[in-house]
Parts: sequence; structure tokens; C-alpha cells
Amino acid sequence: MGSGGATPYDAIIVGARCAGAPCAMLLARQGLRVLLIDRDRFPSNMPQSTHLMHPLAVAKLKAWGLLEPIAARTTPLTNWRLDLYGNVLVGVPPPVNGNVLSFAPRRHVLDDVLVRAAVKAGAELREASTVTNLVFEDDRVVGIEARECNGKKFIERAPIVIGADGPGSVVAHRAKAQEIDVVPIVQSNLWSYFEGVSLDEVQLYVHPKAGAFAFPSSDGSTLVAANLMYAEFITAKADRSAAFCARLRQVAPSLAAAIGHAKQVDRLYAGCTRAFVRKAWGPGWALIGDAGMKKDPVTAQGIPGAFLTAEWMAQAVADGLSGRQSLDRVLADYEAKRDAFMMPFYSFTARLAEFNPPSPDQDRLYRALRATPTDTSELFGAVALTHSPAAFFAPDNVRRILAAYGH
Ligand SMILES: Cc1cc2nc3c(=O)[nH]c(=O)nc-3n(C[C@H](O)[C@H](O)[C@H](O)COP(=O)(O)OP(=O)(O)OC[C@H]3O[C@@H](n4cnc5c(N)ncnc54)[C@H](O)[C@@H]3O)c2cc1C
Repeated sequence: MGSGGATPYDAIIVGARCAGAPCAMLLARQGLRVLLIDRDRFPSNMPQSTHLMHPLAVAKLKAWGLLEPIAARTTPLTNWRLDLYGNVLVGVPPPVNGNVLSFAPRRHVLDDVLVRAAVKAGAELREASTVTNLVFEDDRVVGIEARECNGKKFIERAPIVIGADGPGSVVAHRAKAQEIDVVPIVQSNLWSYFEGVSLDEVQLYVHPKAGAFAFPSSDGSTLVAANLMYAEFITAKADRSAAFCARLRQVAPSLAAAIGHAKQVDRLYAGCTRAFVRKAWGPGWALIGDAGMKKDPVTAQGIPGAFLTAEWMAQAVADGLSGRQSLDRVLADYEAKRDAFMMPFYSFTARLAEFNPPSPDQDRLYRALRATPTDTSELFGAVALTHSPAAFFAPDNVRRILAAYGH
């Protein structure tokens, strides 16, 4: 594979972070000629994102042989502590391929390991190059137009252009990828990094219309974050620092106290997003990661979602270009697989992001869960992409938990 084509590349991937770099690496490892383009240079931060990685994402890194350099700089996390409307649930998310660890590496650490692995596998990386348009022939995408940072324009061609260029994807816009579902921004995150916080677990606080979370990250720092509903976030623009501290004091007083004695080692970041699902492919183009589906960050499913779609896409493109199946067929299958797996988690995430007060029945369930680590772990699995939210909240399952542990 990878020789004798009319173009120098089998695939062009736009965007070289959580989705694009692994996809490039996996294609290059199969002998395909890959061009990986990003407007950023690496290593660099991705400032619109916190970075908790569930066991599923960690298991992928391990399988790809990339966990070691990340683990060397980042605290491993086993325990999750979820304060769900005053009910404190403690446990471990379900293992994936034997891995129970979560990690929360800074993005300049994670993304650099991913990009370097793609290059090591044989992908050509072009940094500081912005894709501005797609090249079409007979309604089929056959390449990209791009601009280097010095303004020099260039065109490259390949049988498939993969958009891994995040929510504002130029590939999606130029290909006119249809938006199938859209949820406006509901809530937002404010966060920063501290040294000297004594924390060895993931802490999540979900209260009516308010939340907070914290986890140790890379190089001895701990991320501490507050959730504000979007209207509050807009109002708080004048003094986000005050809003951050006030929210922590309200829902997580122990975290507020801990950072009071700690050293803040980075600025205060702010981020929020609308959620959407886009059509994932068309003739000569396809979307992976956030370019194709964006969820509210409340369930931290973006990075594992990027890894999964990168892996599925790499397999699809390798099959499509080998002649085993048509490219259009494998891309249609990719989209069906993405939607079948992700849509239940997409809907669940959209509901959680509303931070709605629990109904009396939900409150009984959450109280009952305090007595059952196994069911708590399965609830964590609905967040961590291993257990179906629909199955967990199915009336029969809820009745079983209440009968065994309810009061
Ligand atoms: C506030 C917030 C908090 C989050 N917290 C978490 C979390 O804790 N855990 C988690 O798993 N997920 C989290 N996410 C989601 C996570 O950040 C994303 O899902 C993840 O970054 C998606 O990776 P990606 O590679 O698809 O896109 P991105 O990480 O957005 O990367 C896209 C890349 O494409 C490049 N690019 C864009 N346009 C062009 C162009 N025209 N030409 C060339 N290059 C281009 C960009 O420079 C960038 O490098 C959070 C998101 C938000 C908004």
C-alpha cells in the first residue's frame, strides 16, 4: 500500500491533536502516506479544554505504546469521588482492557506525545500551516488549499481529506457537512492550576445549577475548576476570578480552602461549547473527533471520543484504499458505527450539562447508590463511555437498586 498513486499522499489529515495525530499514526503504521497539517506548532497548549482522560482513553494510549511518556509526568488516578446533589459516591470507574487508571495530562504534554508518535510512524507533519479551502473535482473532495505562516499558499491532493480540525472545522464548513443535531451552550468551565493541593483522586461536584471538579495533572500541578451556567458565565465576565472562588466556596468548600493555601501556577482559563453532531463523511472527505461531534465537557468524553473515532477512521480508510471495499462504503459504515456508539452518550451528556435539580425518584436512586460500589462504578461507566446510560437508568435496573439498597 502507499505506492504508485497519482498523488504523493494517501490521506491528508487537517488538525494534529487528539483525533488527527492518532489517526495519522495508525494509518502510517499500516504503510499509508499521510500528510498531517496543523496551524499550531508543537508542543503547545490547547487552552479551550480541561483534560481528564477516562480509563478507555488510557487503555488506547497503552495499546498504542504511548502511555509511558505521559505517565512519567502525570499523576495516575484510581478513585473518583462524586458529590451528586449532596450524595457522595466513591468508587472506581470500570476497567478497560484491565486498566482502571485515569490520567489528566496537560494538553502540551499529551498532544506532543501524539504528534511525535505520528511522525515516528512516518506521517509528514506540516506545522504553522492553515487549511483554507478544499479542492473539488466533480463534487468530490480531492485535496486542500493551505497557507504557510509566511503567507505562501500551497495545494496538496489525496483520495481522502480527514477533518480533525476541531469544532470550527474548515473541512466540515467547506464540505457543507450537515449539522444533524445542535444543543446551545448550557454551562461553562472556569479553571486554573495549583501546586501544593493535597489531592489524589478525581473530585466531581454536581449541585443544582452549579458544579466544580478537580484532579491532579502533570508536573505536580492540580487542576481545580468551577461550573457556571452560561447566563452566569456571561454576567461574570467582569470578574471571573471572583466567580470562580465564589462557586468553589458554594459547592466545594474543601477545594476552596485547599487552593487558599496553594500556589496558583497558571492563569485562569475559561471554556464552554455548544454541542452538535455533524454528518461524518461525503465523497472524498470525513470528520473525526470534535469536527464531527461535539459534546458539553461535563462528562469529559471528548478525548476518548477523539481516540475512538481516530481508530475507526484509520481502519476504514485502510480498508477503503486497499480496494477491499469502496471508500464510500467504509466511510458510511464508520458514520453508522460512530452514531450507534456515541449518540446515547451524547444525549446523556446533554442532560447532565443542565445541572437540573434531581426529581424525588432520582434523589432516592442517588441515596441508594451510596451503599453499592458496584452500581456506583456502573454509573461512573456511563460517564466514562463503558456502560450504556440507557441501561443504567432503565426502570428495571433502578427498581433493582432501590429494592436492594433504598430506604
Ligand atoms: C471547556 C472544555 C473542557 C473540556 N474538558 C475535557 C476533559 O476534561 N476531558 C476530555 O476528554 N475532553 C474535554 N474536552 C473536550 C476536548 O477538548 C476535545 O474533545 C478534544 O480536544 C478534541 O480533539 P480534536 O483533535 O478533535 O480537536 P482539537 O483538540 O480542537 O484539535 C484541533 C486541531 O486542529 C487545528 N486546526 C483547526 N483548524 C485548522 C485549519 N484550518 N488548518 C490547520 N489546522 C487547523 C487546531 O490548531 C488544533 O490543533 C473539553 C472541552 C471544553 C470546551
